[in-house]
Amino acid sequence: MIPTSGSFHLANVRVHRSLTPGLTATFDADGFALADITVADGKISGIAAHKKSKTLADAIDLAGRIVLPCFVDCHTHIDKGHIWPRKPNPDGSFMGALNATGADRAARWSAEDVARRMDFSLRSAYAHGTRALRTHLDSVPPQEEISWPVFEAMREKWRGRIELQAACLLGIEGVRDKKWFERLAKRVAAAKGVLGVVTYMVPDLEELLDKVFAEAIKHGLDLDFHADETDDVAAISLKKIAEAALWNGFEGNILVGHCCSLARQPDLDVLDTLDKVAKAGLAVVSLPMCNLYLQDRRADQTTPRWRGVTLLHEMKARGIPVAVASDNTRDPFYAYGDLDMLEVYRMATRILHFDHPVGDWPQAVASTPAKVMRLDGVGTLATGGSADFIVFKGRSWTELLSRPESDRIVVRDGKAIDRQLPDYAELDELMVD
Ligand SMILES: [Zn+2]
Repeated sequence: MIPTSGSFHLANVRVHRSLTPGLTATFDADGFALADITVADGKISGIAAHKKSKTLADAIDLAGRIVLPCFVDCHTHIDKGHIWPRKPNPDGSFMGALNATGADRAARWSAEDVARRMDFSLRSAYAHGTRALRTHLDSVPPQEEISWPVFEAMREKWRGRIELQAACLLGIEGVRDKKWFERLAKRVAAAKGVLGVVTYMVPDLEELLDKVFAEAIKHGLDLDFHADETDDVAAISLKKIAEAALWNGFEGNILVGHCCSLARQPDLDVLDTLDKVAKAGLAVVSLPMCNLYLQDRRADQTTPRWRGVTLLHEMKARGIPVAVASDNTRDPFYAYGDLDMLEVYRMATRILHFDHPVGDWPQAVASTPAKVMRLDGVGTLATGGSADFIVFKGRSWTELLSRPESDRIVVRDGKAIDRQLPDYAELDELMVD
């Protein structure tokens, strides 16, 4: 349907107000308008409200099918991805995930093992329409010396297809070894990465956070935290991160993932935390599928009673940038998943109520994470922007989010790509003992 020449006109395309800055059109209650898009030399050379009379003879009529910009997935773990067959989570719990992954990492994560699973993950993400992706990299010794060179090579290999970023991942107690942490920060800076830690409510949390901020400031790094991935109301590290950002006068970007416990805390505490998060300029990413899987998992096989996600509506109402992302795929933290951001958006719509109204929630999988990742112009459809978009079958939210849309067309640099997904059998030899 999309020609390979790289120059064509798409007529009668359904686009969303939240992802088409600069488009003057009449948008309906769902935020959609019909538009015509002209593509030339890999770029969108024009996007305008659909005019029947002006439809060019050679235009491809999409009959109102939805076109969205390619996705941005700002929180993943492609170094862990797809180890499930050799290391499942024994009971579906968070501790089960942590222990199983730690054992697998120590035993199996050679450079080749990590590289092959990463490449598999990236091929899936690319086929589903993802254009930029940030992964965390387990950086507990000696893994940092194995995984960071693999990441650097993988980023090169995928340049032009997926903009790949990485953040180091370690429990905040690892920062106590100052010399080692300083070396890690230097290594992350050398790779143009992002500094990341998992915060826990340790007695010296504030001191350790100051060290993290000091290293980020020293090397000019952005920050990316895993915080409060628990139902424990005493977990308030999101607030501690915001306070640390304020008193350190941090000017880089900070992304905080999870923040599950916030949804369990008393309203007054929540308001205080959100004030500080907004003031400190933090962005928050929710990982709805992983949270649904791990949070409120009960050892006695009783039914979970809460969804696990954080307070995205309250955050957005305060102007805090909010995103949703894939997180783990087929590893002990989440048994499922394929880095399909349409699936993430569909699940987020159901779990987090991204509807009635839809408003500008589509930005949470496109332009908002792009800004957090400093990717100018990514995640929108605009004249002069690159022609990176997805053509769906659906013509409305209910059509788009009811089917997997496995037959979507992904256009990159103005050309439809081969969307063949990698075969699981490719990884079989990595899964044997
Ligand atoms: Zn994560």
